[in-house]
Amino acid sequence: MRLFEAIIDANHRAVNGDPNAGLHPADFADELPVIALTCIDPRLNAFFPNALALPADQFIWLRNAGNIIFEPMSSMMRTLALACAVKGGREIAIIGHTDCLVCKTNALQLLEKFKELGVERHLLPDNLNEFFGLFSSERQNVIKGCDIVRHSPLIGPKIPVHGLLLDIETGRLDWVVNGYETWQRVPLSGDAVRASGPIAGALSPLGAFDIGEMKFPEGKIGDLATKAGGWVSQKIEKVEETLPGTPETKAGVAKQVEEYAQKHWPKPPKIPIPPPIRPRPNFPTKR
Ligand SMILES: [Zn+2]
Repeated sequence: MRLFEAIIDANHRAVNGDPNAGLHPADFADELPVIALTCIDPRLNAFFPNALALPADQFIWLRNAGNIIFEPMSSMMRTLALACAVKGGREIAIIGHTDCLVCKTNALQLLEKFKELGVERHLLPDNLNEFFGLFSSERQNVIKGCDIVRHSPLIGPKIPVHGLLLDIETGRLDWVVNGYETWQRVPLSGDAVRASGPIAGALSPLGAFDIGEMKFPEGKIGDLATKAGGWVSQKIEKVEETLPGTPETKAGVAKQVEEYAQKHWPKPPKIPIPPPIRPRPNFPTKR
């Protein structure tokens, strides 16, 4: 089971009342840290990163109103690209949520709100829907965002791009786009640039910016996991592969490595998913 499959499995078990639901982040060292784009809705503050059962230092949290990705080269895309290239993010998740007010607000209502704030109509762009990215389906918005990120030349083909939807009442997470299933089918980013006129056109203002210069992290976290967590069986197999000698002696040495690791670097405790947070019936809510 890969990281987000394990996260969703643990999340569903937690929501269904399993007190032991959770995961060992160290089992997924090669897939961490993750980058998540969510909405700005303050109700989400209580859910992340707990709903993913991830420690805070393995969770790169990006937010904007409506978790919207506008274009393959937008400001948010550049941040996502640097989160991968500079901060070592291994997987991207766009996480929408139910009862999103960006989804529930139409252009007319938005104009009214702006009017109350003293923002004059003539100072705003003509097409508010397009300018603010207003959408009518949280699910479709996540699918669209994943599609743009997946095909952006700024994100290498090594990074899975997932789409999830969080139920704001229960904390339940559900798949919208399984990035493990879709990420291998897209062309390499260089091919995407050549194949896409508009995207290639969008690249030209960047001038000297060279996609080939972008370095994606290779094995840093995995190496650490090998040293700090010999109990990860996958890593032990890798150790075994690199050893000299017969298969028997190799297996013997690998076993010693594992025993040594278990003794000196015991497996850290599982990070639990807390029970879902439900508002109290009489709790005053303000929008
Ligand atoms: Zn929202």
